[in-house]
Amino acid sequence: MIGVGDMVLLEPLTADSFLENLRNRFDHNEIYTYIGSVVISLNPYRSLPIYTPDKVEEYRNRNFYELSPHIYALADEAYRSLRDQDKDQCILITGESGAGKTEASKLVMSYVAAVCGKGQEVNKVKEQLLQSNPVLEAFGNAKTVRNDNSSRFGKYMDIEFDFKGDPLGGVISNYLLEKSRVVKQPRGERNFHIFYQLLSGASDETLKKLKLERDFSKYNYLSLDSAAVNGLDDAANFRTVRNAMQIVGFMEDELHSVLELVAAVLKLGNIEFKHESRCNGIDESRIKDKNDLKEMCELLGIEQSVLERAFSYRTVEAKLEKMSTTLNVAQAQTKARHKVMGVLDIYGFEIFEDNSFEQFVINYCNEKLQQIFIELTLREEQEEYVREGIEWTNIEYFNNAIICDLIENNQNGILAMLDEECLRPGTVTDETFLDKLNTICGEHQHFESRLSKNSKFLTDHSLPHNCFRIQHYAGKVLYRVEGFVDKNNDLLYRDLSQAMFKANHNLMKQLFPEGNPAKVNLKRPPTAGFQFKASVGTLMKNLQTKNPNYIRCIKPNDKKTPHIFTDSLVRHQVSYLGLMENVRVRRAGYAFRQPYEPCLERYKMLCRRTWPHWRGPAREGVEVLMGDLQVPHEEFSYGRSKIFIRNPRTLFFLEERRRQC
Ligand code: ADP
Ligand code: MG
Repeated sequence: MIGVGDMVLLEPLTADSFLENLRNRFDHNEIYTYIGSVVISLNPYRSLPIYTPDKVEEYRNRNFYELSPHIYALADEAYRSLRDQDKDQCILITGESGAGKTEASKLVMSYVAAVCGKGQEVNKVKEQLLQSNPVLEAFGNAKTVRNDNSSRFGKYMDIEFDFKGDPLGGVISNYLLEKSRVVKQPRGERNFHIFYQLLSGASDETLKKLKLERDFSKYNYLSLDSAAVNGLDDAANFRTVRNAMQIVGFMEDELHSVLELVAAVLKLGNIEFKHESRCNGIDESRIKDKNDLKEMCELLGIEQSVLERAFSYRTVEAKLEKMSTTLNVAQAQTKARHKVMGVLDIYGFEIFEDNSFEQFVINYCNEKLQQIFIELTLREEQEEYVREGIEWTNIEYFNNAIICDLIENNQNGILAMLDEECLRPGTVTDETFLDKLNTICGEHQHFESRLSKNSKFLTDHSLPHNCFRIQHYAGKVLYRVEGFVDKNNDLLYRDLSQAMFKANHNLMKQLFPEGNPAKVNLKRPPTAGFQFKASVGTLMKNLQTKNPNYIRCIKPNDKKTPHIFTDSLVRHQVSYLGLMENVRVRRAGYAFRQPYEPCLERYKMLCRRTWPHWRGPAREGVEVLMGDLQVPHEEFSYGRSKIFIRNPRTLFFLEERRRQC
């Protein structure tokens, strides 16, 4: 074993020794390390020979602590508790962009697929579950400066199993797709993969049908400097994605409809406007060259004059970013009670130089996940000790509920105030929103801004006027208010949604139900913030009903390169993931616990006095066992219903003895 496989056993425990242990293991290709049952995963940025079918066999049906740390051990544990103990599971994967979350989610899914039931039907379901990934990634991932395959959406997938533990299907929810990327990408980044894949990989015939040319440079939405990505074969990936879409269940004509929309978006990006001054002094926008418009209308079956009219408002162009497809693959949702394993792969905490509405909601989501972590891991842990009558010295930890409240409180939370501002009649700007924040949150201990009426509380006068700062659990983040109101409104001009609804194209119609003239009287659609808060709320409720399994992903360097471990970078992540606190709680407590009955059942063969038919209460049987095996007293405690074992080594010892029997 290189270094210490479980941080719970690290001695002495300091931030430095923690880091040193991670580095030591990383240098020896050990990318996984435990904190009790939590898996820390370091991105190796190269393929390691640790995901072979042999490895799957090795980890299959083995106890968590028996082998060296691996993501497969966590997957196995979660799957077995689901199958054998009927406990719904969730796998919570967090970490910053490029840390390896999506890869981890795929590893968990492929492990579970490898070990769960067999047979034609089951295999078909497994294929569909696994093949949902390439489809989602084509439409939702892009090359960014941090990650060549960065997920631009959060993903939660519930995989359903029957009573035998065979998979039945899955339900995928997406969170907050970064739609604006369709129209504009930061320097050195790309648009969503599908555009490049389509142009590189489709046959000449398909491209002709879609009225497209192969050359990226013909399209305004495909930034040129970064179009080709090393090690990314867009053409081959297009074939993978097509194939995956078929497996997932798209019919040939549906698949073609999707590609028509992709083509239409490219055409749309090429439409340019020019200003025309009219004699009455009013400026108007006119479309410069109508060929792209014409082709777009042909693709979508829209009458050209209808779309042209909808476009002829000056304000419209900026709003076009809202026209992108969200992908929802929902399958096999049945009513019977099934066992469920949820896998959450969601953007980690983001602290950029320039943080806007997107970072604000992403970080809010991470605050909520931290809440769940605190609630389930720390609080439950402590409460269990109390329940079981085990002696326990309370551990102080920072509870971030106060920050969640600052953001989500229905009366005076930041999101509520943003909504209020968006719905208020009169002139509403990002500045009026900031004023409101200053008035209402000025005194909150996790909120700072310069214009605050309580400026006497302020410590930092370098804070720019158009910003507010939140002290998140993971650190301070400065948000620029510019765009908050617009992004929260997320409005598409009705003329446009109506034009899209008029398309003679089924898929397009479905995407713009609000364009249906019959629904013109509908109330204003909910704001982006409101929707996000609601879906995060639903997600949290869902997670709370499940047994959590944590994978904490860490990015070892900023260069997407193997073998480099940058101390400062890792230290920062260790700190905001709250890993040290996590170890402390674990160490103060017991690494392993098991109710008396199953414990006695499993180990009674090790002791003649309990084997084969112990007649007394299970607890006494376990006491006899431990006494006979001479396990030192300080190594365990007897709770009301469970035995608590302090050190995983004790467990190894018991398992080893059992194997020798
Ligand atoms: P995230 O989803 O956290 O942004 P990804 O899972 O997309 O990050 O990982 C980024 C890249 O890092 C992947 O495309 C892959 O090249 C590499 N990577 C991540 N995890 C592993 C792993 N376990 N083994 C090998 N390479 C990995
Ligand atoms: Mg990802």
